[in-house]
Amino acid sequence: MALNFDLTEEQNLTRQAVRDFAEKEIAPLAQELDEKETFSVELTQKMGQLGLLGCFVSEKYGGSNMGYISYAIAVEELARVDGSQAATIAAGNSLGIGPIYYFGNEEQKRFWLPKLCSGENLAAFGLTEPEAGSDAASSRTRAELRGNTWVISGSKIFITNSANPLTGCVLVQAITGIREGGKKELSCIIVPQGAPGFSAKEMKGKMMWRASNTGELFFDECRVPMENLLGARGDGFHQMLATLDGGRLSIAAMGVGGAQGAFEMALQYANRRIQFGRPISSFQVNAFKLADMALEIELARNLLYKACWLRENERPFSKEAAMAKLYCSEVMGRVVDQAVQLHGGYGLMKDYQIERFYRDQKLLEIGEGTSEIQRIVIARSIGVAGRAI
Ligand SMILES: Cc1cc2nc3c(=O)[nH]c(=O)nc-3n(C[C@H](O)[C@H](O)[C@H](O)COP(=O)(O)OP(=O)(O)OC[C@H]3O[C@@H](n4cnc5c(N)ncnc54)[C@H](O)[C@@H]3O)c2cc1C
Repeated sequence: MALNFDLTEEQNLTRQAVRDFAEKEIAPLAQELDEKETFSVELTQKMGQLGLLGCFVSEKYGGSNMGYISYAIAVEELARVDGSQAATIAAGNSLGIGPIYYFGNEEQKRFWLPKLCSGENLAAFGLTEPEAGSDAASSRTRAELRGNTWVISGSKIFITNSANPLTGCVLVQAITGIREGGKKELSCIIVPQGAPGFSAKEMKGKMMWRASNTGELFFDECRVPMENLLGARGDGFHQMLATLDGGRLSIAAMGVGGAQGAFEMALQYANRRIQFGRPISSFQVNAFKLADMALEIELARNLLYKACWLRENERPFSKEAAMAKLYCSEVMGRVVDQAVQLHGGYGLMKDYQIERFYRDQKLLEIGEGTSEIQRIVIARSIGVAGRAI
């Protein structure tokens, strides 16, 4: 049988377990954590104990090795209830654990992965800088090898999971030299918490994902041992692109899950709310809105699972990851917009959780490559002439 849309028993069990956890443990806290803009150490550790960190890491290093489709399902189920907790897990896996698992040497993996997979620690991926966002290659942070020590100078901004009590290390992309022809040599270096010259400051005042942790990082002649280089010197740009491809799957999963949660709220509200003597869902214009939401979520989920299937089967998946990230995040945008509309004035009030979903969605079109950048990636991969940039 070549084409089969059935999920495996394990994938269904993952969905049920994460849904139960999200509804029992996260849902009662989500509004308050958002309101107070508080990262929860306790919830993060519980998610680690549930095996939600290290989703694609082999058991040998303490991972749960559930595969990419199950990973997407897990993120989807968290996002159905709370975008912030989903963000902690998505970034923890794809941006923190992923680069160490795929590019680290045996010693680095043995040292970091068990504690990252259990939730004892989180790792963060420091790519974005104040002057280098979409144009990630224009980073200015530098690392110079002096004797057996990397000396790092520069800063990073908007780094998820980088400034909380669980942060164990940050992976920093830095210029480590200039190649023949003048091109920058970029490498990734593991900077552990407490390294001399390294400091992190929590960024407050976010519109969305308010219970996730975002940090600004400062490297002032920060010193780490030579052995902290991740993979080969000069591989940093390639590592960053590969990491973002994987990360895009998890952002797409947040889009599907967030859209699903918003849709369920809208459906329930529209079936209950009576105006003109009948449920508002019975007006055709609203019934069609709900039908369109269900249709788009179905399409988004199919695209996401296909991209994850390609990743799981070690096929090329960059184009599909960009398509899924772009489509799923924009579908969630349309769904939350209509879901708030169906709630009328109540949809604008904090007491109604749909307002939080409306805010949380926006990051999905910006983080890990904006929607414009995804369209550039797709345009290039379908043979558009020139660089399309
Ligand atoms: C909450 C949060 C968490 C984040 N987590 C991380 C993290 O863990 N690690 C990390 O490294 N980064 C992280 N980021 C950073 C995020 O990836 C960047 O914000 C994003 O890549 C965009 O960069 P920028 O904000 O500098 O915007 P810019 O690159 O300045 O873009 C501004 C606008 O210009 C458009 N634009 C730019 N270039 C082009 C072009 N060539 N063609 C057309 N349009 C273009 C963009 O699409 C956008 O609309 C996070 C950001 C946030 C807000």
